[in-house]
Amino acid sequence: MQFDILTIFPHIFDSYCDESMMKRARAQGIIAVESHDIRSATTDSHNTVDDSPYGGGPGMVLKVEPIIATLRSITRKSRSKVILLSPRGKQFTQKDAARLSLEDQLIFICGRYEGIDERVVTYIDEAYSVGPYVLSGGELPAMVIIEAVSRHIPGFLGKEDSLREETFSETVPYEYPQYTRPEFFEDMVVPEVLLSGNHAEITAWRKSQAKPITISKEKTEGKGVNE
Ligand code: SAM
Repeated sequence: MQFDILTIFPHIFDSYCDESMMKRARAQGIIAVESHDIRSATTDSHNTVDDSPYGGGPGMVLKVEPIIATLRSITRKSRSKVILLSPRGKQFTQKDAARLSLEDQLIFICGRYEGIDERVVTYIDEAYSVGPYVLSGGELPAMVIIEAVSRHIPGFLGKEDSLREETFSETVPYEYPQYTRPEFFEDMVVPEVLLSGNHAEITAWRKSQAKPITISKEKTEGKGVNE
């Protein structure tokens, strides 16, 4: 899978993509991540990427021409989608991650400042928000979607089962609580059934615990999480 990111901060992804699973997947050729500096496509002497909004108002808006020139400079694969990051986009879900993982190439357009010139929308296939809040740029949302999509690409996860049993997956809509050593921590204990060695009982307990429970501090105090 080829990920291309259009941004005015092309180095912002370097550190994250050079660690852990992202690093391994890139080294193995499972994914490729390339950022494209929108500023390189400007034609004026100041390399201007933004301008004040028509009609007035605060802040600056990313200009349409350098974004579209950058987009046109990218070699497109046969299955390729252009995605805009926007708080006005559809809320991104695990289902979207699975569907998008079937593409060959995802091209992300990251806004900044007050956003992008609306005419960019003509060139996109889909627009996503990563949550009902406003961030300073589309770079973190792009990285979030890249990682969520990558986890569906064969070979990205060491063990394919880890994805199948995860929260939001088709088979297990909610993951069960997990524990590891030590057995006792302060006044909290590991549920006895997990120490029993009885696989049938463990599976039944896990199924019973795989409920739509949001982790909250109150639930964890003085006992095992979600008990
Ligand atoms: N003025 C815009 C508004 O009120 O909707 C906010 C612009 S925001 C400061 C700058 C850029 O960050 C956006 O163009 C978008 O690319 C990105 N962004 C901010 N929040 C986001 C979110 N929740 N999901 C996806 N992208 C987001």
